[in-house]
This record gives sequence, structure tokens and C-alpha cells, in this order.
Amino acid sequence: MGNPKAFLTLHRKEAGYRPLNERVFDYGEVEQTLNTEDRIAQASRCMDCGVPFCMWSCPLGNCQPEWQDALYKQKWTEAYRILNATNDFPEFTGRICPALCEKSCVLALSHDAVTIRENEAAITEKAFLEGYIKPQPPKQRNGKKVAVVGSGPAGLAAANQLNHKGFDLTVYEKDETIGGLLRLGIPDFKLNKKIIDRRIHLMEQEGVKFVTGVEVGTNLAAAQLLADYDAVCLCIGAGVPRNLTAEGRDLQGIHFALDFLRQQNRRVANVPIADNEQITAKDKHVLVIGGGDTGSDCVGTSIRQGAASVTQIEIMPQPPADDNPATPWPAYPQVLKTSSSHEEGCTRRWLLDTTKFIGKDKKVTAVEVENVEWQPTAEGKQQLIHTGKKETLQADLVLLAMGFVHPVWEGLLQNLGVAANERKNVSSNARLQTSVDKVFVAGDAAVGASLVVRAIASGRQAAKGIAEFFNC
Ligand SMILES: Cc1cc2nc3c(=O)[nH]c(=O)nc-3n(C[C@H](O)[C@H](O)[C@H](O)COP(=O)(O)OP(=O)(O)OC[C@H]3O[C@@H](n4cnc5c(N)ncnc54)[C@H](O)[C@@H]3O)c2cc1C
Repeated sequence: MGNPKAFLTLHRKEAGYRPLNERVFDYGEVEQTLNTEDRIAQASRCMDCGVPFCMWSCPLGNCQPEWQDALYKQKWTEAYRILNATNDFPEFTGRICPALCEKSCVLALSHDAVTIRENEAAITEKAFLEGYIKPQPPKQRNGKKVAVVGSGPAGLAAANQLNHKGFDLTVYEKDETIGGLLRLGIPDFKLNKKIIDRRIHLMEQEGVKFVTGVEVGTNLAAAQLLADYDAVCLCIGAGVPRNLTAEGRDLQGIHFALDFLRQQNRRVANVPIADNEQITAKDKHVLVIGGGDTGSDCVGTSIRQGAASVTQIEIMPQPPADDNPATPWPAYPQVLKTSSSHEEGCTRRWLLDTTKFIGKDKKVTAVEVENVEWQPTAEGKQQLIHTGKKETLQADLVLLAMGFVHPVWEGLLQNLGVAANERKNVSSNARLQTSVDKVFVAGDAAVGASLVVRAIASGRQAAKGIAEFFNC
């Protein structure tokens, strides 16, 4: 703890977003950076608590106080070393993590939390800029071959960890590019894709092989994979989106959020999209169904595409703006989140259920919604009550952003014959080993749709499980 009084004398200072009237015209990252002096000052606010709740709440167990101290003392290489010891990709989490650590920062109880996430990004960018992140291929290979299926954060973390332990790694990806939802899902205005390229290049230099455009279970038989590799790690994500089966669902102009977002990521990457496949919000009245983060990404993307209006609706009640007694510190607070995209111009509404899609000439033109209420039952659960009060919202592009239910079972998982758990995710033990010999699982495919930080933690856990399986 470099400066014992900083938490009393210095206020939290965020880098903030680029000006709204500038950022909505491009897909560049919205978040800015602080100058070095301010960044170091922010690190000094860390109190080096006896019980660091920030560490406890981070799925990676990041040693926050240690690297805040190193940052304050301008020991940048040391700060990166400590950070990287528990997190393979701090350049991703430093940008897009909801920062569970900051919510449980002890300072958050009475003041504003330390800017842990921004500090993380700053340390990592400096490390890349100054060139002390260098390829570190393993000194020795152990002769064991591992295939990772899926190149999202879970697959990348598993591959990175195992490669450094001396395994021979091949990552298979069905898309044309590496990164999973980091690449084709999360908008460029939250995560510039060059950040992913930079890390992939490093992993390639360290010996990890990446094979794109191969859907295992379709283009490459699952049995072949088992025959060719000593172990397989399934990191295929939670690919099945939650659907809405209201009347009129088959009208044109109703799409899953991810289909819309993936297209825009591809457009930014100059990947051509056939005219008859284009999904665009330009001049449209956009209705985003689902009040979460994926919905918020649809809002920001629609605004950049030039939507006439954007409305986001949610079936749950509006959360409280600041404190929520139901989720007290140090728990993650269930409070109203207003993203950079929401600030850019969007009507947000709560307690609305979608009852009907209305159309003309086979195209959606409006959506009928009904006001709902939630009432507690005798068993302590919440029961959905339809009030009968209906209204119609104009919409010629509807984006379904209601989350993801489980991984895709057709193809790979069925061919392998791995067991499912009660939520239809891939069942596994503490080592993330599935019911099939030498097959492991990590990330959203194991735990359901979650966060990048959890996917990285899960990939690391599976890598540990695989290493233990071979007594390495
Ligand atoms: C729109 C959106 C925005 C998000 N924003 C954030 C955010 O800001 N912060 C955050 O922390 N989290 C965010 N998330 C959640 C986060 O992206 C996921 O939790 C995380 O990416 C899961 O990682 P994963 O590696 O398990 O799976 P994924 O990232 O889904 O990667 C799985 C990969 O497996 C590939 N694959 C699937 N089947 C096969 C097969 N048979 N053969 C070969 N390859 C296959 C897929 O193509 C995909 O590339 C967001 C999610 C979405 C949808």
C-alpha cells in the first residue's frame, strides 16, 4: 500500500466515454484512457484491505491489492506479472468485465470503489506497448496432444495454460475467425478486434495451432478427434438463444440479437454479407426484447446503423437506481445499469410481456405488449401476473435478446455422447471432466451463458484438470 491516505484524499476518477455526438458515428471503442499520472493516483486509492473482498469476488482470484501497489510505485512490469499470474487475458477483462471486484471493493461501502478494471487495462496496454509481453513457448513438450473445440475466452484460456505446460495444442473453430463471442458478438465499440488479433498472434508464436472454418461433429467427426488426441476440451459456448413463440413470430424482420450483432462485427471487419442476408436498423423503428447486456449491445449497434428509434423492453421490474437491499455489499448489486449505448438514445421500459407480432405483407410492423406484475407466492417464488392492459409498439426490426439456454447438442455433443446436467449444459466433475473418458468442458458450455471472466477462469480450471489427468 503505497499511499496510506490516498483513499481519504483522492476521489475516484474514471476515464469516461468519448463524446456522444462523435462516437455514435463510428465503431471505435467508446471508453477513453487516463493519463499516466492520474492512473497511478487512482491505483494509490487501494487500501490493501486485510480481507480483500475484491479478490474474493473475482472468479480469477485476481490479486488486486498487490498490482495496485505495484502500479502506484510505477513498477509496471511487476504489476503485469502479478496480474497475468491469475488472468491470461487482462486486455479483454480490462475492457469488458462488469468488474465484480469493484462492486465488492471495501471503499465502495462508503466512498467510490478503486478503478480496478481501468487500471488493469492500463497495465496491460503498457506491457504490450513497451514490449515486455514476449512469446514464451514452453522449454519442453510433454508429447501429449490436446484439441480444444471453440475459440472463445474459455477455449483460449485452456489452450494458453496447457501450451505453457508443454502440451501440444490445436484449437478448432467453426467460424472464419478466432475469438468466439469476443470476436463475433461483443461490438467493436466495446472491444476493438485488434486486441484479440494481438493475443492470438502471441499464442501462435508460442506454438498453439488454430484451425478455423471447421465445425467439429460436422466437418470433422467427433470420433476422429478422440482418435487423434490424448484429450479434448469442449469450449463451444451456450449457442442456443432463448426464443419467443408469440403469434406472428415467423414474420420477416424478427431476428435473434446475435445474428444482428455478428453481422455488424463482420461488416466492421470488411467481411462481405450477401444482400438478401442483410439485417440492418437503418431508418427502422427497432424494438429490442430483453433488458440485459446483449440487448444494450443491440441498442448501441442500432444507433450507429442509423435507426429511426430504439426501444428496449424487459419483462422484469426496473431495478433500483442505487442501493438494492436484496443484494447488499459485497454481493454483486442488482441495480439499474445504464450503459454507454443507453446514453446514446433509447427508450427503456419494464414489466412488459410480448404477446403478439403484428405485420403487413409478411413483414413485422408492430408488437403487441401487455403490462405484467410479479407477485410473491406462498413458497417465496415470484409469479408472473398478466394485467390485461395491452398496447402496440411500432417496430419494423425486432431483436430477440433474451439470453441463451444451453449449448447446441445436435452434432458434436450428441456424437460424443457426453451427459447433460439438469440445465442441459454439459455435465462435469470438479476437474471439468465430462462423462466421456478424456473429454473435458469449460466456459458457457459447462455453466451456461455467463461472463468473459468466468469463461477464462473455467478454461484455466479445465486446463488444470487435464494436466492432473496426465499427472503433469
Ligand atoms: C452480445 C454479447 C455481449 C456480451 N458482452 C459481454 C461483456 O461485455 N462482458 C462479459 O464479461 N461478457 C459478455 N458476454 C458474455 C461472454 O461473451 C461469454 O460468457 C463468453 O464469451 C463465453 O465464452 P466461451 O468461450 O464459453 O464461449 P463463446 O465465446 O461462445 O465461444 C464458443 C466458440 O465455440 C465455437 N464452436 C461452437 N461449436 C463448435 C464446433 N462444433 N466446432 C468448432 N467450433 C465450435 C463457436 O463458434 C464459438 O466461437 C456477452 C455475450 C454476448 C452474446
